[in-house]
Amino acid sequence: MKIIPLSIPTPFYVGDVNVYLIKEEPLTLIDVGPKTKEASDALRQKLKQNGVNFSDIERIVLTHAHEDHCGLAKQVRDEAKRAEILVHNWETGHLFGRLAQAEHRKLMERAGVPNEVFQEMQEIYHDISLLTDALSDGEFSELKDEMELEFRSGTLKVLHTPGHTPGSCSFLREANRTLIAGDCVLKRITPNPIISPDPIDPTRRFKSLAEYLVSLARLRLLAPTLVYGGHGEPIDDFEEIFNRYVRAIDDRQKRVIGLVEQNGVTAFDVAQKLFPNAIDKDVHRFLAISEAVAHLDYAETEGKIAVEFKEGVEFYRKL
Ligand SMILES: [Zn+2]
Repeated sequence: MKIIPLSIPTPFYVGDVNVYLIKEEPLTLIDVGPKTKEASDALRQKLKQNGVNFSDIERIVLTHAHEDHCGLAKQVRDEAKRAEILVHNWETGHLFGRLAQAEHRKLMERAGVPNEVFQEMQEIYHDISLLTDALSDGEFSELKDEMELEFRSGTLKVLHTPGHTPGSCSFLREANRTLIAGDCVLKRITPNPIISPDPIDPTRRFKSLAEYLVSLARLRLLAPTLVYGGHGEPIDDFEEIFNRYVRAIDDRQKRVIGLVEQNGVTAFDVAQKLFPNAIDKDVHRFLAISEAVAHLDYAETEGKIAVEFKEGVEFYRKL
């Protein structure tokens, strides 16, 4: 099975996104890049270098529905009339923007985010949501854990690896333990567990960090020999990356727990202390709040801090 990485530009700080062309029947793209002219031109040109046109694509598989990964799905599909789009049904980014729903406002309120800050973030995310076309019902089908994506010479096994987002999926070529992991495993950065409503019960918060650690442990058991991430070069030392992640998460847990005060702090307070430079800058503010919430949730689940609800806001305290 020929897996060809194509590096596509994004307007985000993270830099290029990796799209994977599986040059085999059915001709498949794993992720597509954001909906910008630069990305669309780059994708078209890089496919062409491999003898492929948009119209030849038969299947589009999304690792997750963040704009940098899924934005061009509809455009490619519209040109490739037969292409089917597959995405896990716990994803929502291909349906509506990240802070667009009432549940999102609730999550931010609970985290202690002031209303004017939420509004600023919403405006930013409105602009970001323009980097993807919304797909309607019937335009995509569902990826399910353990399902097999069939190709002429073999299969890719779908692994639901929640954490970075609730419906993040990875794809395993069992024959040589090659893994395409989206943003679940990245070479240079520890993936950020993004705050989102729980897909089963949207009034609750998705326990992103706890889920992420389970996903990482599951991938480790598969002992992948080569991992293709959503950004950066392929990884041939997964065990080392795994240990680095666990250390980084552990260090951050300690820092976050250290920032929790006797008389109570909100996740927004902790985010401001954790990332004093990021807190008033565009998407970084949302990522900083996500990170603080993920770590506070995890510390609370582990019984290391206490949480108390006061007028719809969560206050974390030392035990
Ligand atoms: Zn992502």
